[in-house]
Amino acid sequence: MSREHFGAVATPVYRTSTILYPDIETLASQNVPYKYGRLGTPTSQSFETAVAELEGAARSFALPSGLNAIATAILAVCGAGDHLLMIDTCYGPGRSFCDGPAKRLGIETEYYAPSHGADIASLIRPNTKAIYCESPGSLTFEVQDIPAIAAAAHARGVTVLMDNTWATPLFFRPFEHGVDLSIQAATKYIAGHSDVMIGVVSANADHVGRVETFVHDLGLSASGDDCFLALRGLRTLPVRLARHRENALKLARWLQMRPEVERVLYPALPDDPGHAIWRRDFTGACGLFGAVLKPAAKTQMTAFFNGFAHFGLGFSWGGYESLIIPARFTRTVGDFAAAGPVIRIHAGLEDADDLIDDLAAGFARMKEA
Ligand SMILES: *Cc1c(COP(=O)(O)O)cnc(C)c1O
Repeated sequence: MSREHFGAVATPVYRTSTILYPDIETLASQNVPYKYGRLGTPTSQSFETAVAELEGAARSFALPSGLNAIATAILAVCGAGDHLLMIDTCYGPGRSFCDGPAKRLGIETEYYAPSHGADIASLIRPNTKAIYCESPGSLTFEVQDIPAIAAAAHARGVTVLMDNTWATPLFFRPFEHGVDLSIQAATKYIAGHSDVMIGVVSANADHVGRVETFVHDLGLSASGDDCFLALRGLRTLPVRLARHRENALKLARWLQMRPEVERVLYPALPDDPGHAIWRRDFTGACGLFGAVLKPAAKTQMTAFFNGFAHFGLGFSWGGYESLIIPARFTRTVGDFAAAGPVIRIHAGLEDADDLIDDLAAGFARMKEA
């Protein structure tokens, strides 16, 4: 137990730009723990240290959002003339980043299918700088063989980036599986209450330097208030995740029995195609999963989505509340196929039976429409 901050159990919010130096010699030597607000305060450092420890990283950097963490990780590693292998199932705005600003900066992105393991080696070119992974993938939840990809990448001197938001560091330890830079949209489970936008890039020892330089050169930082809330969220992460997982599993199993459902997309289910790798590498599943419905008319889907009592219609996830959305995604190389609509569900902390009743009422509305 720390006796810092007069023994206050929670690190206080430091709001500051200027840090005063005791004398001109210290100002010249810069030999102080905190130099300037943007470069870190006890609040941001407490949060970063906690995330680094959980992820198994040498150091973590708090950033303004999860999407910013994606962009920061890519740009810290890749530059003009470099080739980036990007997972086809990446978070959608991450794809926009690669196809927009990264392309304009001269980074060539090639999308690869989530089924690639060791054979990703065949896609590596002399100018390939990074392989970006996200497992399970956004909206369709394919699990990647991260250790096999990392081995192939490292054999050719390629850096491995991974968006680890779904599992959180509690259910997947990225650096133990060969990841060099890990990304967290801490907006989701880490903050956990849908009231903060914050992201984190965590790096192993080999990559800390270049991330730090990039973050400092771009003037990126997260506010003390947001770091405080994210750190507070971390305190209850394990108990919240246990409940999210329990609720998600109940809903997923219930959906599997429903005549309206073609298949459920959740690696924690034994018949999920990604289950074996998930069991091998992950220690748990969160509350976010998908389902492919049997083909339905647009009017039926409208009736389904309009009228939920507990599920909210909205983006993001990882908060206390349950959410449901139609899943819209771009795929250019994967083999994901669905004849009917795909939905995404975030199982919140509510009573699972209430959530099941809510979905059952949705299916009833769908039938009536
Ligand atoms: C939401 C999300 C992000 C982006 O996080 P923001 O904080 O909303 O910018 C990144 N990756 C994944 C997998 C996400 O779901």
